[in-house]
Amino acid sequence: MKTDLNDQELVTYSRQIAFDDIDYEGQLKLRNASAAIVGMGGLGSLIALKLAAMGIGRLRLIDRDVVARSDLHRQLLYDADQVGLPKVAAAVNNLDRLNPDVELEPVPESLNSQNAERLLKGVDVVLDGLDGPEGRYRLNRACQNLGIPWIFGAAIQASGNVSTIIPGKTICLECFLSGLKDDELPKCAVVGVHPSVLGIVTSLQVYEAVSLLVGHEPELMNKLLYIDLKDMEFHKIEFDPQQDCPVCGQSPTEEPESLDDKLFDEACAKDGRRTFLYTPSGNLDLDLECIAGGLQGAGYTIRQQSPQGITAARGEDYLLSVLKSGIIIIQSSPRVEIDPKQPAEEFCGALLAWAQGKGPLPILP
Ligand SMILES: [Zn+2]
Repeated sequence: MKTDLNDQELVTYSRQIAFDDIDYEGQLKLRNASAAIVGMGGLGSLIALKLAAMGIGRLRLIDRDVVARSDLHRQLLYDADQVGLPKVAAAVNNLDRLNPDVELEPVPESLNSQNAERLLKGVDVVLDGLDGPEGRYRLNRACQNLGIPWIFGAAIQASGNVSTIIPGKTICLECFLSGLKDDELPKCAVVGVHPSVLGIVTSLQVYEAVSLLVGHEPELMNKLLYIDLKDMEFHKIEFDPQQDCPVCGQSPTEEPESLDDKLFDEACAKDGRRTFLYTPSGNLDLDLECIAGGLQGAGYTIRQQSPQGITAARGEDYLLSVLKSGIIIIQSSPRVEIDPKQPAEEFCGALLAWAQGKGPLPILP
């Protein structure tokens, strides 16, 4: 634990130190603090930029995806040369150049019911960069069990929401927003999102997280801030504690609704390519050097390579990403005229077996 700031830190953070609500003591607290960002997309990538620049001591970056060209207009942490790189790999590279003093922990995994507590354990605050309610319920329950505060944030089109949830002190997400399914809500790949609303939601999330870390009471406890840029309205909605909440209530009347971990799923199309995601049940810690060599030997071209994952191409029709944790992402071009869902799942399973030395390299569907 650091007990003082050095000369360079005094210069770097001078505007925060001059600001009463942070000052020298607060900056020192930020330097000794840690945060996890779950999801490094439209929200998480901006949160990571802001927290790294502000000098939070340690950032854990959790994401299962690779950078796509259609991310670049809003996910300002990434650049065009990084398309195809795992987002956590691209993030570590760029954040380290922004602020080399911040300790970065890239985690190329998908947060699910099994691993959520392992992935979040040991940090002071968690920031939500997810894109669907089911993932947020997993995050909510894990933070409740671990007693870690988290900052809920969501955005679509020109509107957004923010709330600060502190286990044992405030209501939880499922007190005021429960039972939603990912498939029932609009997706930003379909209805779009304005980058400005992401900038505002993430700025508010960071403000709340920093308030917590420096020891001030966050404003959005037991409150949901609703933002709509179309009419520039900000509404604060207050909530009462829910004693019967199945997740955080003192006297729950029922069990929390069960959440299925979808190990194979179709994701939003990337750059016009149908995209499938395969998640192994545990972290496989694959040997990526060996996998890259094997794929090259079989006629694939390696497009991106990093310690957290690789992306390989087979002609123009398929892009294949293998993450260190064992997550596989297949992107198929519109020219491939088969329904790839079932063959894609079988291919992913066989590819993972091959990657672990348990079978031949499968042929693409
Ligand atoms: Zn609750």
